[in-house]
Amino acid sequence: MEIRAIQGDITKQTDVEAIVNAANESLLGGGGVDGAIHYAAGPELLKECRTLGGCKIGEAKITGAYNLPCKYIIHTVGPRWHGGDNGEGEFLNLCYKNCLEVAMQHGIRTIAFPSLSTGAFGYPVEQANWIAVGAVYGFVEKHPDQFDLIEWVCFDKNTLKYYNKEIELHQSGFYEEIDPVSKEPELIALLSEYNPEVHRYTDDGFDWLDDDGYSIIIKRDGEERMYVDYNDGEFTLGLGCWHGHYNLYRKDYEDLIKDIENTLNNALVAVTIRCDGEWFGSWKTPVSECSKKELIIQARETMHKELIEKTKRNGYQIECEFFDKTKDFTYIIDSEI
Ligand code: ADP
Repeated sequence: MEIRAIQGDITKQTDVEAIVNAANESLLGGGGVDGAIHYAAGPELLKECRTLGGCKIGEAKITGAYNLPCKYIIHTVGPRWHGGDNGEGEFLNLCYKNCLEVAMQHGIRTIAFPSLSTGAFGYPVEQANWIAVGAVYGFVEKHPDQFDLIEWVCFDKNTLKYYNKEIELHQSGFYEEIDPVSKEPELIALLSEYNPEVHRYTDDGFDWLDDDGYSIIIKRDGEERMYVDYNDGEFTLGLGCWHGHYNLYRKDYEDLIKDIENTLNNALVAVTIRCDGEWFGSWKTPVSECSKKELIIQARETMHKELIEKTKRNGYQIECEFFDKTKDFTYIIDSEI
């Protein structure tokens, strides 16, 4: 079983039984890879597509391949990118899952995908890649021995680079799940110099923790300054007003450890933006990127359009919190951003 990405024209692939088409809801042809597939397959493809009654975003439908070297075409409709908060990821994931499901039902063992949604539909390839590759690895894990080859045929070098990067991460075990309970002693050891308090669900005020959850708290001058907890299937790291979540993948756990180390070294800063005392958002940033100018740029990326209008009128403040409280500082931005 091989999962790989190659550069090429998907209509010319001779090593797969099926290729996937990045179609639109009508299934009646379009530009990009859809146009190339219809052109290469010939007009009979359009005839068959007309009988299918279209296709919804995330669904997959199969046809013959006519003049193409493969046997089947699986048509799917990827999501159009609207900023990422509109379920784009779930729909893209569904496209891959449903294509593989349809392929499996037809006994197809070799299949090629284009980079779904990253052309005319505008999905950034650096976000589509991990959804796509994750979806394929997830499917293969649930259905082992069903496929011999699953590949992406990328039209350009840049797209290929992003798919290869994710495939390598999967192959190197970066997405293996770790056991969070066994990591507790390691986390406590990492924080041992700072008198960590460890809490469980049986402790007063911690009944929100799961049976196997834990919360490690570091206080400075009697006040909670940082915490790491495992609960509800994820780790959370909190510093000042900011907190971030980390999945149970080895990759995320390594990021968590790096972030904890950087926090302890005051190299990771929690940034909070407020306008008229109202909390607008918090994020983390390396200390090397917390100049006033850079934080204004980050703030602009974090804020919604309406909030930008409000802060333009009233000004705002950017608070930087370090693990060492004596380093905390605030920028007041009273002019237009
Ligand atoms: P979508 O509408 O889902 O974004 P597009 O066809 O516009 O689909 O683009 C999807 C990807 O397919 C893009 O990376 C584009 O460069 C690529 N592409 C276009 N033609 C081909 C082809 N013949 N073979 C493989 N990939 C192609």
